Amino acid sequence: MRMILVGPPGAGKGTQAARLVETFKIPHISSGDMLRAAVKEGTPLGLEADRFMKAGQLVPDEVVIGMILERIKKVDCAKGFMLDGFPRTRPQAEALDKAMKEAGVALDSVVVIDVPDALLEERAVGRRTDPVTGTIYHLKYNPPPAEVADRLVHRKDDTSEAVTTRIQKYHSETAPIVPFYEQQKILKRVDGVGNPDEITKRLVAALS
Ligand code: AMP
Repeated sequence: MRMILVGPPGAGKGTQAARLVETFKIPHISSGDMLRAAVKEGTPLGLEADRFMKAGQLVPDEVVIGMILERIKKVDCAKGFMLDGFPRTRPQAEALDKAMKEAGVALDSVVVIDVPDALLEERAVGRRTDPVTGTIYHLKYNPPPAEVADRLVHRKDDTSEAVTTRIQKYHSETAPIVPFYEQQKILKRVDGVGNPDEITKRLVAALS
């Protein structure tokens, strides 16, 4: 299965992707995780991406497109993959489409996780990640156990200001990819309001 998870910041893409890849046995490819790893390692790509990410802006298309197209050529993606956070602009969607056509493969599904803007800021600002296990917690809705609390990371772009910019960018830059996939008849929408287990069930039903 080759699929894409789309949703605004705080929609639960990362949490749900981690669960879905267990069910569907495909690699989880998160452009945000790859960029954060590059920033941490201080690679040239990371150095370029860092200033955009801190401000909640999108990293330029040419940087992200090259990174993802290289990644999906790897052998672990031969039978499928789940993209999370890519494509995020119409040129990214078109570049992915072209590369997949050239490779003779096609997307099976693009799933949009819908969450109203009013809920997103609180979800993103309260988010904390465990750098050891990659588990995503929320201080109020999914509190971390005491033994991991001291090591949790608060993303630099999960501040109220950066989240507001990221939500605006989602509407102006990412929403235009929806009609692109609607035309291809592979778009599905899932209600992202509720507890994570319920939302996983909705996603699995939409994908199965
Ligand atoms: P995420 O972890 O998906 O929320 O992404 C965190 C940040 O990484 C975004 O706010 C952007 O700055 C950058 N980023 C991730 N994926 C992309 C993408 N496909 N295009 C441009 N920037 C991206």
